[in-house]
Amino acid sequence: MSSVELRDFVKLYGDFVAIKGIDLDVEKGEFCVFVGPSGCGKSTLLRMIAGLETISHGDLTIGGRQVNDVPSRERGIAMVFQSYALYPHMTVRENLGFGLKISGRSEEEIETRRSEAATMLGLDPYMDRRPSELSGGQRQRVAIGRAMVREPEVFLFDEPLSNLDAKLRNQTRVEIKRLQQQLGATVIFVTHDQIEAMTLADKIVVLKDGRIAQTGTPLDVFERPQNQFVAGFIGAPSMNFLPGEVISRDGTGVIRALGIDIPVDPSAFHLPPEGTPVTVGVRPEDIVPEGHGQRPELGTDVEGRVNFAEMLGNESLIFLDVAGTELVSRMQQPRMVSPGEAMALRINGARVHLFDHQTEDSLR
Ligand code: ATP
Repeated sequence: MSSVELRDFVKLYGDFVAIKGIDLDVEKGEFCVFVGPSGCGKSTLLRMIAGLETISHGDLTIGGRQVNDVPSRERGIAMVFQSYALYPHMTVRENLGFGLKISGRSEEEIETRRSEAATMLGLDPYMDRRPSELSGGQRQRVAIGRAMVREPEVFLFDEPLSNLDAKLRNQTRVEIKRLQQQLGATVIFVTHDQIEAMTLADKIVVLKDGRIAQTGTPLDVFERPQNQFVAGFIGAPSMNFLPGEVISRDGTGVIRALGIDIPVDPSAFHLPPEGTPVTVGVRPEDIVPEGHGQRPELGTDVEGRVNFAEMLGNESLIFLDVAGTELVSRMQQPRMVSPGEAMALRINGARVHLFDHQTEDSLR
């Protein structure tokens, strides 16, 4: 049984259709991440599930119960916001217990749940402090603790890590994942950060303009993007896209892009007739500098000239001019690279993606 089911979900703001008919099942115990660019509808969707926005059309089921018209506090959900939304005049102890207190729980039950959450989240030393006396990361843990003590059926997170610095963000991300696994909790998590989505999710829902562009495991959306949008959005740096043309569909297939013939496995694609324009997608790690890593068997050699390089420590990103177009290559074993330097590269034909030139759908 799904923990959360959305059926034909629509949100209208006046004439504007913000959510355009979404169907989705989030399973019990699943970590589901909504990801997409600004304005794609992530927060609206989450707020509709939370009961903070009305549902213009469609059905929402939580734990097998249709809850379209059930008030937020009775939906069995708990929400954690980017802004923490803690009560500033209350201590951590009071913040953690407040929700339970107003729902009429006994002092004893409040204390049990509160101390469990505080211990799990490492909040014991801070119980008598007010939010203003805590760091951003500690405040976020209190916000998570406040959601935990309610023992909800579903946790909803709205960009909870955005206000934290990079190091704390990574640390809190790991904590949230660990906690979710310990609790076996059902989580719906909104972010615009594809790395957060990839590392946290069991199921990623990539949204674009109020519609689902693709749903799948992190590996699915990375390895088998169904369209050019998902291919470009997931993966950093972005996939390189090149205008191409089908040259041959027989034997070893051939796609020509930038005047370069790239061999591909024709059985892996629904290749259109020879002469049809297609868009070729190549991830930076599949443009392999000579002598770096394994030489791709199916592939083609090209020459590039370095525009500039970004050294990241354990790897480098090399921006190269190849036949007048800038491509990004990921160099796994970094060495010093100078602008203007000529570099031999091999495009890995076995990992090339192809998209319909017009619909932008994958040709796989
Ligand atoms: P962000 O990452 O920037 O927060 P988002 O993906 O969460 O973006 P939403 O906040 O869900 O996007 O907004 C989706 C669309 O609905 C946007 O085009 C936004 O302008 C519009 N929208 C959101 N709230 C309202 C509102 N109250 N009235 C009218 N339009 C709205």
